[in-house]
Amino acid sequence: MSRDTVVTRFAPSPSGELHLGNARTALFNFLLARKRAGRFVLRIEDTDAGRTQETFVAALAADLDWLGLAWDEGPDRPGAHAPYRQSQRAALYQPLFERLEREQRAYPCFCSHLELDLSRRAQLAAGRAPRYAGTCRELGAAERAARLAQGRKPSLRFRVPHARQIEFVDLVHGRQRFVSDDIGDFIIRREDGSAAFFFSNAVDDALMQISHVLRGEDHLANTPRQQLLLEGLELAPPQYGHVSLLVGTDGTPLSKRHGATSVRELREAGYASAAVCNQLFRLGHSTPLNQLLSLPQMAAAFELEHLQRAPAHFELSQLRHWQSEWVHALAPEAARRWLEPLLPASLSERQVESFIAAVRPNIVLAEDARAWLQIIFGEALVFEEPALLAARQAGAAFFAAAAQALEERADLGALRRATGRKGAEFFMPLRAALTGRLHGPELAPLLAAMPAEQVRARLLRFAAP
Ligand code: GLU
Repeated sequence: MSRDTVVTRFAPSPSGELHLGNARTALFNFLLARKRAGRFVLRIEDTDAGRTQETFVAALAADLDWLGLAWDEGPDRPGAHAPYRQSQRAALYQPLFERLEREQRAYPCFCSHLELDLSRRAQLAAGRAPRYAGTCRELGAAERAARLAQGRKPSLRFRVPHARQIEFVDLVHGRQRFVSDDIGDFIIRREDGSAAFFFSNAVDDALMQISHVLRGEDHLANTPRQQLLLEGLELAPPQYGHVSLLVGTDGTPLSKRHGATSVRELREAGYASAAVCNQLFRLGHSTPLNQLLSLPQMAAAFELEHLQRAPAHFELSQLRHWQSEWVHALAPEAARRWLEPLLPASLSERQVESFIAAVRPNIVLAEDARAWLQIIFGEALVFEEPALLAARQAGAAFFAAAAQALEERADLGALRRATGRKGAEFFMPLRAALTGRLHGPELAPLLAAMPAEQVRARLLRFAAP
């Protein structure tokens, strides 16, 4: 593989459902790989057994699949860097831990959670940013042996070098500078022997030859640690780009409070994956293209330079916009497949076609069609007040003439000629009488869908003086 090959990855921790923020990260990494004819890797970051749930591993894959973000390598798709679940990579990590210890770049730490917590509080109380106090940094061999003999299980800490400048160019935020003295020695292997996030995440990016990492801005502060660690192991870091956080309309980080924010919830609410992807594509990534795009079109239009620093606002109204664009763009057969599960089996072929033609421009989610099914095919019609008024104002003669014309042909033109009215004067009362509303589907397909008896009865209701 050439060094120029673009390899990106999505590296979720299976401790929850796929939320919009992570779905967007996955989308951006997928698009970058596709744009540069590279590879997109799915890696499951499951070294924290306490937080991992198998159901989430399956759900994450199902959600990515649904979004159309096909990964080239992953737990279920063999590749040169298997295994793709970190819980199965302990044998690859072991020699690296040993090397770091041998070279004194890492040391066992015996501090208990209680001790660490007390130290943290003391530092906070003294107005200092808390970091590891270095208690176990300089323990001699005898002291270590004594603690091990007491049965204490150490974690392994990376020894952060003193007085080092860490610099890197973030693909979104530009040049970043950190000083190592602000960073405490950090855990790279937990007491139970499992690899900690800082380690497995950075090491796997290097071992899997990931070229670009696009991830949430909340990880920006982790990057200098990961750079130091990779440097200690003489491994090449990827290029990092930290994408802006997703926030709700109130400006706070997107969360449950903002309603449906997981991919599953949006899917179950009836949104199409194309609508979700089109929305995510525009969150923190600017594009001059304002039409509905396919994934290949998004890949072509994806630009690292267009990633934005400002927090990206998620608004349901925008998702609904993309959903209606999707509904609008559906081919007739696709529209039919979409609405078919809702349609009563009793409808004739002509009614089905007319119904779909009538309601499609008026609905965003398939569920919205239910109300129109009820209005067009249901027996009882509930009138909105202004519609009732409009129908009454048109007068009995109007409806009598319309009903009369209907006996010959259920056709809009025939009805119009018989009533002698045009434009709104004709359409408004007719729509009001037939649907109980002033706004809604076009009348021609509506008339074709509604059973003739139903049309007649609804006109006659207003035909008596
Ligand atoms: N497992 C990490 C997370 O889900 C990955 C972060 C990263 O992309 O580097 O937050």
